[in-house]
Amino acid sequence: HALTRLGVEKGDRVATLAWNGYRHFELYFAISGIGAVCHTINPRLFHDQLTYIVNHAEDKYIFVDLTFVPLLEGLAADLPKVKGYVVMTDAVHMPTSSLPNLLCYEDLLAPEAEVYDWPLFDELTASSLCYTSGTTGEPKGSLYSHRSTVLHSFSVSTGEALACSSSDTLLPVVPMFHVNAWGMPYACAMNGVKLVLPGADYSGAALYELIEGEGVTKAAGVPTIWFMLLEYLRNEGKTFSRLNTVVAGGAAVPRSMIEAFQNEHGVDVYHAWGMTETSPVGTTGRLSAADKRLSKEEQVSIKCKQGRAVYGLDMKIVDDDGQELPRDGKAFGELMVRGPWVIGAYFENQAATAAAIEDGWFRTGDVARLDSAGHMQIVDRSKDLIKSGGEWISSIDLENLAVGHPEVAEAAAVGMPHPHWGERPLLVVVAAEGASPTREGMLAYLADKVAKIWMPDDVIFMDELPHTATGKISKLQLREKLADYRLPTA
Ligand code: AMP
Repeated sequence: HALTRLGVEKGDRVATLAWNGYRHFELYFAISGIGAVCHTINPRLFHDQLTYIVNHAEDKYIFVDLTFVPLLEGLAADLPKVKGYVVMTDAVHMPTSSLPNLLCYEDLLAPEAEVYDWPLFDELTASSLCYTSGTTGEPKGSLYSHRSTVLHSFSVSTGEALACSSSDTLLPVVPMFHVNAWGMPYACAMNGVKLVLPGADYSGAALYELIEGEGVTKAAGVPTIWFMLLEYLRNEGKTFSRLNTVVAGGAAVPRSMIEAFQNEHGVDVYHAWGMTETSPVGTTGRLSAADKRLSKEEQVSIKCKQGRAVYGLDMKIVDDDGQELPRDGKAFGELMVRGPWVIGAYFENQAATAAAIEDGWFRTGDVARLDSAGHMQIVDRSKDLIKSGGEWISSIDLENLAVGHPEVAEAAAVGMPHPHWGERPLLVVVAAEGASPTREGMLAYLADKVAKIWMPDDVIFMDELPHTATGKISKLQLREKLADYRLPTA
């Protein structure tokens, strides 16, 4: 009712700039349910990217959490098409702000009726819009339809994916401003799952308190979050009373993390792989009955892979000429996907569409292996693979081994120029709090874990690594920081 009174019509884009909270959840359903498009904005993007996407999407209104009001104040002058800003709070907490046409969420809703006759419309009507973080070039929009969203929610609900049941309590730590929080708000509503929304505090202490206080049984998010939680549990000597499952995706989960959750806390960790363009869930890493007959070691090795495709999604790997490669667990090439919730085009962007879609398949930009049982394993982002002589070295594998070292908080491997080999790996390490790992110690730790040719030519230390808006290590910015660095072997 309130949106209609504001003049929002079918097909209009209405943006949100908000944490995971109940008003954001209400907006997901209200905006899409009246036939408008819920455009979730990632507040971690840079100023120019934010103005680009609001203008490209032609957002009519922006609903904004109190925390992000100052961010918008700095942008508003460059957003001529936005008709007004609704602060997601009540009258008592309304800020004084320079934002034009400022409205209060609860005041807007207060006079409206409690029931609404939901309209019926074509299932191909757009429901939500999400832009990729755009590590290169402008951010690109993925527009989801009601059809793709409902089918994706069914898929996320299945036993192979999140196994959503009304007896569960689920904590999506993955933000609702990034690929619809992996579809969990929809899948939970669909199955009557209690949903716990963490707001802005992702610290180990805050998440632990929520998990215990709300009886969370399942949680989902990126590995970085789980590192912080594990560290908190270790420091405080605590464990969980009800949490049994952690689904991790967005980046590869290191073996050491899977083992720590399993052995120290009895929590099952498995992968989900996907991307903005795939709604996002494409594969999940639940063990099959056959997998469970293997040794514990082998089971963990399978869990280190990204899992099997969920029903509805097709995958293949191809070489540089587009020829399909065998599913033998050895060959690797670019991962291509297609399915009902994979984009067929970028929103209003023909050039990006032409580069990404080939014969109905979407080029993921990920390099992967497929085995005969259907397990997919991400080797690297294609642009991050390190090419040394004729050999490809996976930066992800090196990083995941390095973070298994108890004195390491985070690590990044990058290919640095080398006159003889083309590229050789450099390992950049962030020390764990209070620890002081050494170059020699790191090399000795890796020596019996990787082939000689994979051994980094150097290890250097940084106080922190640059991250992208979606929390991944930004190799682009890291390479910029390393512009003057030369390998000692070069
Ligand atoms: P985004 O569109 O920002 O969600 O990023 C998608 C990218 O994140 C994928 O193309 C992968 O490179 C990476 N990614 C997502 N899930 C995983 C995973 N489980 N393991 C490794 N990389 C992942």
